[in-house]
Amino acid sequence: MNLLRAIAEIGKIPGTKIRAISGFYDTQPVGQVEQDNFLNSVLRIETSLTPQELLSELQRIETDVFKRKRTIHWGPRSIDLDILLYDNRVIAEENLVIPHPRLHERRFVLMPLAEIDPDLVHPQLDKNVAELLRSSDSTEVVTKV
Ligand code: AMP
Repeated sequence: MNLLRAIAEIGKIPGTKIRAISGFYDTQPVGQVEQDNFLNSVLRIETSLTPQELLSELQRIETDVFKRKRTIHWGPRSIDLDILLYDNRVIAEENLVIPHPRLHERRFVLMPLAEIDPDLVHPQLDKNVAELLRSSDSTEVVTKV
């Protein structure tokens, strides 16, 4: 399964330790492209890498390990690795935005995140994950596997 493979690869990133892994959540795809459901999970890691270094490692896993090619936007893909939060940092660089811009509106992110740490505070919205989940009005169907 791609998700297990990705977690194993993240565990091999230099200077990085996995501290928690959420359950796996089955999600109906967003957008119009006909495709299978997605499987989502959130990890908490501790790392000595900077946000940019971590992004490079995740992109290396996407391209080298999964041979991911960028084809149809929001279409089927083998894996998508995102940085959701990095401590309480706010980063707005050309290739890296943290907190992840859509974190707060996606139940398939908030549900696994709440499982790991419902008290985690979004540094820009000043609400914790449990509150964000309660105020989310998304209609995505997300089921814990
Ligand atoms: P996607 O096709 O949705 O995987 O988007 C990947 C692009 O998003 C990459 O080119 C990244 O540089 C950019 N990006 C911006 N912020 C983030 C983030 N927090 N985590 C991962 N990728 C990001």
